Amino acid sequence: MAKKKNTMTTAFGAPVGDDLNSQTAGPRGPVLMQDMHLIEKLAHFDRERIPERVVHAKGAGAYGHFEVTADVTRYTKAAFLSKIGKKTDVFVRFSTVGGEKGSADAERDPRGFAIKFYTEEGNYDMAGNNTPVFFIRDPLKFPDFIHTQKRNPATNCKDPDMFWDFLSLTPESIHQVTVLFSDRGTPATYRHMNGYSSHTYKWYNAKGDYFWVQYHFKTDQGIRNMTRQEAGEMCGKDPDHATRDLYNAIEKGDFPSWTLEVQILTPEQARDFKWDILDITKVWPHSEVPPITVGKLVLNRNPENYFAEVEQAAFCPGNFVPGIAASPDKMLQARLFSYHDTHLHRLGTNYHLIPVNRSKNAPEHSYQRDGYMRVDNGGGAGPNYWPNSFGAPEPDPKANEPHLPLEGDAGRHPFGHSNDDFVQAGTLFSTVMTKQDREHLVGNIVGHLGGAQKRIQLRQCAIFYKAHPDYGTGVAKGLGLNLDEVKRLAAMTSEERAAATAG
Ligand code: NDP
Repeated sequence: MAKKKNTMTTAFGAPVGDDLNSQTAGPRGPVLMQDMHLIEKLAHFDRERIPERVVHAKGAGAYGHFEVTADVTRYTKAAFLSKIGKKTDVFVRFSTVGGEKGSADAERDPRGFAIKFYTEEGNYDMAGNNTPVFFIRDPLKFPDFIHTQKRNPATNCKDPDMFWDFLSLTPESIHQVTVLFSDRGTPATYRHMNGYSSHTYKWYNAKGDYFWVQYHFKTDQGIRNMTRQEAGEMCGKDPDHATRDLYNAIEKGDFPSWTLEVQILTPEQARDFKWDILDITKVWPHSEVPPITVGKLVLNRNPENYFAEVEQAAFCPGNFVPGIAASPDKMLQARLFSYHDTHLHRLGTNYHLIPVNRSKNAPEHSYQRDGYMRVDNGGGAGPNYWPNSFGAPEPDPKANEPHLPLEGDAGRHPFGHSNDDFVQAGTLFSTVMTKQDREHLVGNIVGHLGGAQKRIQLRQCAIFYKAHPDYGTGVAKGLGLNLDEVKRLAAMTSEERAAATAG
């Protein structure tokens, strides 16, 4: 039978005669095994869900472009950054971090800010957050940290004891905790927040000189946050408010944009810098490393299908192009492995072939073959090995990055400057925040930390106190804690404090 243009078909293209009545033995009889249409439909439905991301599960995405507005060729040879006015297609995904796929967009959480640049030299992914720093700086702590932000293994509820127990035993988290519990922890929408690389990356130019760089995507819509009361209401009123806002803004032509600024240090400057540039719990003060404006990111097209384009979007901080490379930041080094590994688990070996992930402006010429869901011709009849003498793709030494001198003995090395962990959080509290910001910060913390055991409250308050006495005092007062006890704990080392407040 010839197929009519709009005839419903099975997944294999055969016409469907009836999609309302299953085949049965008589009008009231059992369903027949031979109803392949029913079987195919149910079996596919049973497999609709793929594993959600273990972090950043709830997100929204959009397409757009990045345009270069300044000459940065002395710092990087990346082709997509090579000329003022040059535009590169992008796909961007925003997300919350700790919540599941159905969680509310307004929850207090860092926000993911991931950009895929479809460059002519392959895809470049910048997977950052809306915060310039992070809670921890050694990846060995990451799974534990995330467990504490998720659900209690017995109750399956979020648990303030877990949340604050870990953070109060991990003093380097104080800077990020201060950002998270400011109103920046509940951005009004994805359009009204900045994006930061947080990590230090390496840029290198055509001569092979290299530089350390941090990215700041500053929102052109202006920063707008919700208070905890507004965020709490929003969670109930519209759990998808930020997803909806992004979609609707783009749909009506109100295209959001961000200005990219970078901070750059030469290797010599980095060596003498006060802060360890590989410590993701620290920023580079603007007064010491003034940001340079590089370009503009604009989002102007919504995806047509959420699952195909947003749920299956896969970013990896290890997707670099010539001119950009990793730094030895320990957290970044672990993410180079972990993101790719997650996508292999979630989407399969050939996730790079999914259209949103495909390097559409630089066709793949690799010798990787086969695997589940290889949906192109898999390299056709060409050789599947290198070296070969059939004129097939060959490596180009120009794509190598400059050597990075390294030294030291192999071992488990802690960061050597933990006394400085409180300084930048204190600066944020005392000189960047307004009086109202500080009041909101303290109120936001009291509301959350108040659910934890008293000994954990005391331990965490000592850390606030070390960042700034007014900070620790404000939270301690809000919680009704004994301030002398907080001061006593603040004067101890981390180890002594942990022992003095053990359960
Ligand atoms: P600056 O005064 O030059 O910069 C302060 C920065 O703080 C601005 O970029 C501002 O972002 C941002 N900011 C304002 N309110 C908050 C908040 N509630 N949470 C997080 N960031 C906020 O100072 P320095 O560069 O010397 O840095 C001082 C402190 O500012 C740092 O210790 C750090 O905590 C924070 N900060 C610094 C950044 C950096 O890269 N240097 C980046 C972000 C924060 P905006 O321009 O959007 O208002």
